[in-house]
Amino acid sequence: MSNLSVAKFGGTSVANFSAMQASANIVIADPNTRVVVLSASAGVTNFLVELANGCDPVHRATVIENVRQIQYAILDELKDANIIRQEIDRYLDNIESLAEAAALATSPALTDELISHGEMMSSLIFVEVLRELNCQATWLDVRTVVATDEHFGKASPNDEKTQHNADNVLKPLINQGELVVTQGFIGRAPSGKTTTLGRGGSDYSAALLAEVLNAKDVLIWTDVAGIYTTDPRIASAAKRIDTMSFAEAAEMATFGAKVLHPATLLPAVRSNIPVYVGSSKAPEQGGTWVTRDPQPRPTFRAIALRRDQTLLTLSSLNMLHAQGFLANVFNILAKHKISVDTITTSEVSVALTLDKTGSASSGAELLSNELLTELSALCNVKVDTGLSLVALIGNDLHIAAGVAKRIFGTLEHYNVRMISYGASTNNICTLVRSSDADNVVRALHAELFE
Ligand code: ADP
Ligand code: ASP
Ligand code: MG
Repeated sequence: MSNLSVAKFGGTSVANFSAMQASANIVIADPNTRVVVLSASAGVTNFLVELANGCDPVHRATVIENVRQIQYAILDELKDANIIRQEIDRYLDNIESLAEAAALATSPALTDELISHGEMMSSLIFVEVLRELNCQATWLDVRTVVATDEHFGKASPNDEKTQHNADNVLKPLINQGELVVTQGFIGRAPSGKTTTLGRGGSDYSAALLAEVLNAKDVLIWTDVAGIYTTDPRIASAAKRIDTMSFAEAAEMATFGAKVLHPATLLPAVRSNIPVYVGSSKAPEQGGTWVTRDPQPRPTFRAIALRRDQTLLTLSSLNMLHAQGFLANVFNILAKHKISVDTITTSEVSVALTLDKTGSASSGAELLSNELLTELSALCNVKVDTGLSLVALIGNDLHIAAGVAKRIFGTLEHYNVRMISYGASTNNICTLVRSSDADNVVRALHAELFE
C-alpha cells in the first residue's frame, strides 16, 4: 500500500469559482492527494443528457447557452482565462455539433460521447484554478486509463486493462511527483468510443483508480459532512455517522442514499481501501470513514429512500402448483438486463420492484414495450408507479426482536404497499406512496434514531 490518496469532488464542489477554490485548497492542504477525480459542474450533465435525448433547434440553443454560462461564470473569475477559454469554446462547439446529430438520430454511443464533455470541461478549468493558487497540476484524459466494455450508459470497467493502463500511464506521472487532475464518470470501450459508468459514477471512478494505484484511501468530497442516519435534506435531525462498515454503506447506496454511488464500494471492499466522505465547503466539520469492520455494529444504522419505483404485479392462475413460472419471468427480465430489487410472492401472483440503482446515463425507462409484451404473453401484468422504497439499514435485523412492531406501529397511518423482510440481515424495505415517502422517512427516523 502506498501513502497516496485519491480525492473526488462532486458536481456541487466544482459548481462555481468559489466551490472550485475551496476544493483546490483541500487538494493543496493534503500532500498525499496525488490524483484528483472530478465530476462535471453541477447541472451540466443534466443539460447534456437533455441535448443527447434530442431537442428542437430553439430549445437546443437555450440548453447550450445554459452550459456555456455555467462554465463562463467560472472562467470570468480567473485572472487569465484566455487560453483555457479557447479550449472550453472548442468543447462547446463539439457539444453543439453532437447535439445537432442527436436531434437527428440519438444513440447510446452518441449520448456518452456528448455527456462526457461535462467532466472534460470541469477538469480543465480546475487545473487552471489550481495554477492560480500556485499549484501545478497535470491534466489527464481518464479514458487513457479506465477501460470498459461497450455497454454505453452504464459500462463495466475492465479491471485488467485498467490496471495495465494505470501502470503505464498514470503511475509514471505520479512517480515523477505530478499532481494528476482527471475526470470521473467516463471511460473508453475497446472500439475507442467513450463510455460512461452511469449517473453519479464519478465516485466509482475514484474508487477504481484508488484500487489500481493501491492507494491508502479514497476521499469523497461532496456537499454534506459525511454519511448521515438519513438524507439530511429530508430529516434535519439526521446525525452524522462517524464510522461505518463497507457492508452498511453498500446497503445504503443500493437503497438510494445518493451520497455514494453503489459501485464505489466494489473496489473498496475488494481491496480493503477505506472511503472517507466529507464536505468540500466545510472540511473542518469532519466526515464519515467507511472501513471493513468498525465497531460498534448497531441494530439500526440508517434509513435510505429510493424514489420513482415501479411495482410489477404478475398474476396467472396457471401459477397454481405450476413449476417454472418464476424462472420464465426472470429469464425475460434478464434478457432485458433488468435486475429485480424486492419481491413478494403468493400462490397465484408475484409482485416485484425493479432495480434502478446506478441507472443508465441517458435516464432511459426500464420498462420497454417489448418487455411488457413478452411478460403479457405469460401472465397478467399490472404496472404501478408513483411509489418509493424506504429501506431501514442495520445489522442482524432478522434476529432483533420487536423490530416489525416498531416499524408498523410508526407507519400505522400510511398505506404500505409491500414489505420485504427476512431475506437480508441488513435491511427491511417498505414500499409506500411517493407522496408519503418523506413523511415516512421522518416518522421512522424519529422513532428509531432520535
Ligand atoms: P456529489 O455531486 O458530490 O456526488 P450527490 O448529490 O451525488 O453529491 O450526493 C450528496 C447528497 O446525497 C447530499 O446532498 C444528500 O442530500 C444526499 N444524501 C442522501 N442520503 C444521504 C445520507 N444518508 N447522508 C448524507 N447525504 C445523503
Ligand atoms: N456528472 C455525472 C453525473 O451527474 C457523474 C457524477 O457526477 O458522478 O451523473
Ligand atoms: Mg454523487
